[in-house]
Amino acid sequence: MATFSQTTLGKGSDLFTDFCCSPCLEHKIDQWAEFYCDNCLKFYCAKCTNLHGQWFGTHVTYGRGDTHKWPVSKEVEDFIQKCDLHEDKRLEMFCNDHSQLCCNNCAFVNHRQCAKVALISESVKGPLPDLQQISRKIQTFLEDLEELQNYWDTHMQSLKVLFNKQLHEITDTRQKINTILDKIEQNTIKELEDKMTSLRASVKTNVDNCSKLQNKLKRLSDTIHEIVDKGKAELSFIASKKCLEKIKQSEAYLIEKLVQVESSLTFQADSDFQQHLSKLSGLGRIVVCTQAVPLPGAPDQILAVQGKSEYNVNIPSDAEKRFDIRAICVLLNDQILVVIIQIMIIKELSY
Ligand SMILES: [Zn+2]
Ligand SMILES: [Zn+2]
Ligand SMILES: [Zn+2]
Ligand SMILES: [Zn+2]
Repeated sequence: MATFSQTTLGKGSDLFTDFCCSPCLEHKIDQWAEFYCDNCLKFYCAKCTNLHGQWFGTHVTYGRGDTHKWPVSKEVEDFIQKCDLHEDKRLEMFCNDHSQLCCNNCAFVNHRQCAKVALISESVKGPLPDLQQISRKIQTFLEDLEELQNYWDTHMQSLKVLFNKQLHEITDTRQKINTILDKIEQNTIKELEDKMTSLRASVKTNVDNCSKLQNKLKRLSDTIHEIVDKGKAELSFIASKKCLEKIKQSEAYLIEKLVQVESSLTFQADSDFQQHLSKLSGLGRIVVCTQAVPLPGAPDQILAVQGKSEYNVNIPSDAEKRFDIRAICVLLNDQILVVIIQIMIIKELSY
């Protein structure tokens, strides 16, 4: 049978085939067929159909409205008959033991021991399978799969958002640690400054005292030069006493300060702190949580009944009334809450 068809890439990756006009194709022109002639077993475009009609008026032709009467394209046939495991082989047999289609390779490799392996042409028995119903089933699965695909796409998007959020959290954590380190650094510098201030104050006191004593001694020394050899007995007496007293003081001062206390400042880094920091492998941990999420539209989970017991909730004073249990649920502490509605019964009065 001469069928000329072309495979076209339609929306998405859907493959569909269409037929080309046979005479036009012979002249290397691609022209979609509009009619199929059951007598010529050929396809014709609108133009060629006119010519065909003039020549073969009695031939039976089928237009686009009757494509179900057009032959199956070679592509469709090849696609259906191709073995899933061996791409270059055609499915030719059916193994009843495994209920599996097989090509020669499959039959040889996997079904050599099987008892009921027959040619497909021999296995075709009974009424034709309801392909429409199978097609509807496929549609349902395609819809479900698309929904699943959408779910994954959305999930991927939310993962990206989550990733950026966590990235921000990490940067934020680093900023917080920087702030803490800045504060610790400032505290250490402040401590250094405070200690320096108190050391400087103590050195300054020594400098002041020393200079005061020097001044007094110098003043006395100058004064002695003024009165020496002047024969002033009283003044000489006072001066000598004052000078001796100051000399005594200076002597005591120098003895006291003979051993000097030298102060220094050193910064000793906290090695424990540094070691602890260098041992850390990260600013924190990355925790991956996984949980089962039922998809919208997924059937409710099937619960198996594990036990059954009956209780009488009737109270004697309820004898005249009827009660309906409208709702029931298990509380967190394993107590059962039952919602009961009172139903009024209006009795017929008999005279
Ligand atoms: Zn024809
Ligand atoms: Zn044509
Ligand atoms: Zn195979
Ligand atoms: Zn088998």
